[in-house]
Amino acid sequence: MGLWERAYLPEILRGLFITGGVFLRNMFKWMTGRKGALTSYYPEETRFDYAAGNRGKHILTQRPDGSPQCIACNMCATVCPAKVIEIEAAFDPQDMAHPKYPARFEIDYSRCVFCGLCVEACPEDAIRMVKEVPNLPATDRWNMWLGKEELLTWQPHGDVAKPYPPAPKGDRA
Ligand code: SF4
Ligand code: SF4
Repeated sequence: MGLWERAYLPEILRGLFITGGVFLRNMFKWMTGRKGALTSYYPEETRFDYAAGNRGKHILTQRPDGSPQCIACNMCATVCPAKVIEIEAAFDPQDMAHPKYPARFEIDYSRCVFCGLCVEACPEDAIRMVKEVPNLPATDRWNMWLGKEELLTWQPHGDVAKPYPPAPKGDRA
């Protein structure tokens, strides 16, 4: 630490100058109705410029026949530090390649900390997090439980790594 930094006061003034500059710039943009102010009125306004690595809403990936890629191994639920993933496994003897599948797959977003460990733990690339976060806020915590159908059928534009079957009618792409 140099002498200038050890004096503290110049650094404090420099910090105040930077913070004040950003504040006045945003205030001016807001007062003149310009876009670009750093604060968004979420959820009425949603940002379009999420960082590429932003961890947003989860999706469950599908096989070409539309079935979930998930094999209900429970690894994501086990590794989840917030314990917000609930999976009920079922067995399909007709499907020799993937006999186990999730009859129920739910995530409680009111307690998810968006750490991404579930995605890292999955051996099947069956769960992903995309940068978009549509419709996550709610005034009732029970509305923040997302089920298998929503996780499976939501096809965000941000997820280009895998082609999906055609979206069902009425899907919020
Ligand atoms: S992002 Fe983290 S907290 Fe959220 S469901 Fe995945 S492992 Fe759990
Ligand atoms: S999403 Fe992945 S880790 Fe979680 S149960 Fe399915 S296959 Fe296993």
